[in-house]
Amino acid sequence: MDITRLIRPHLLGLTPYSSARDDFDGTGHVFLDANENPYDTGLNRYPDPHQKALKQRIAELKGIDIQNIFVGNGSDEPIDLLLRAFCEPGKDNIIITPPTYGMYKVCAQLNNIQVLAAELTENFQLEPSKILKQITSSTKIIFLCSPNNPTGNCLNKESIRTVLENFNGLVVVDEAYIDFSEQGSLITNLTAFNNLVVLQTLSKAWGLAAARIGLCFAQSQVIDVLKKIKPPYNISTPNQTEALKVLRNVNLVRQQILKIQQQRQWLATALQTLPITRKVYPSDANFILVQVADADAIYRHLVGHGIIVRNRSKEPGCSDCLRITVGTQPENQHLIDTLNKYGA
Ligand SMILES: *Cc1c(COP(=O)(O)O)cnc(C)c1O
Repeated sequence: MDITRLIRPHLLGLTPYSSARDDFDGTGHVFLDANENPYDTGLNRYPDPHQKALKQRIAELKGIDIQNIFVGNGSDEPIDLLLRAFCEPGKDNIIITPPTYGMYKVCAQLNNIQVLAAELTENFQLEPSKILKQITSSTKIIFLCSPNNPTGNCLNKESIRTVLENFNGLVVVDEAYIDFSEQGSLITNLTAFNNLVVLQTLSKAWGLAAARIGLCFAQSQVIDVLKKIKPPYNISTPNQTEALKVLRNVNLVRQQILKIQQQRQWLATALQTLPITRKVYPSDANFILVQVADADAIYRHLVGHGIIVRNRSKEPGCSDCLRITVGTQPENQHLIDTLNKYGA
């Protein structure tokens, strides 16, 4: 598939903003080009607009070329940039698969891009034929989320492949929770499918939600257009530094992931035994979707005791469902104790 054909035509000829540090080759030591304050505070210089060191580490970790990596200000930035690069406002559309992450729709609406929906099945799996039926000549992107938020399950890889093979547009697979899952990333399929875009983030397993680091992996034509339209200094120096630190300390994160997975199992079992529980959905993520007797009342009960979960009961297929993030062992125990007090 020719990706260039999918890019909004007015962007093909666009000359991007050229930052001061882009305008010279070689190594300078007197920087009088960017109107910075010359007194060194560690923060007086502009950040690296290309995030070279960070991308190098990500390339190493993921076994992927630097030209296939884009780093965004959270995943929200690549989501927005993909929409702005590929979808013509007032004309093009995207397809989402509810119940799913809310940002795809909000971001599309912000950009005046129509949103078509193909709901997941009863057990939150993809139905490729249903998605393919929604495709029009103006469909540019299909957003899939695996493991899916708020349901917690991975989407069947065969079904994702069927969508990739039968759609002449981009298939964005959001893997924000992939580090908690036994199912491998689709990153390994990037060479087989040039219309595949994979999103990951340092906000969940990597513990860097405050630093806002989103990762986007795709073939270089897609990455190049995102780089072209991004704000030049989209990742601050402190955030690049923190991200590098975490990515160099993989073992600590691996240990935390193991503990979270153990707690997920513990929490699922404990929830299962509560009289208010109707159904505990299987999870490949760091949260559990649970259907309860009366989600609104139980949500209020928890808030009353200072425990905040996410009420997802208005989402399609999620009536009376709460989404509960896996916390530490004492936090999870406290949650279960508090739920046990409900109605008592
Ligand atoms: C939390 C989450 C993200 C992460 O967003 P960031 O902007 O990177 O913090 C992305 N996608 C899904 C499905 C999420 O649940």
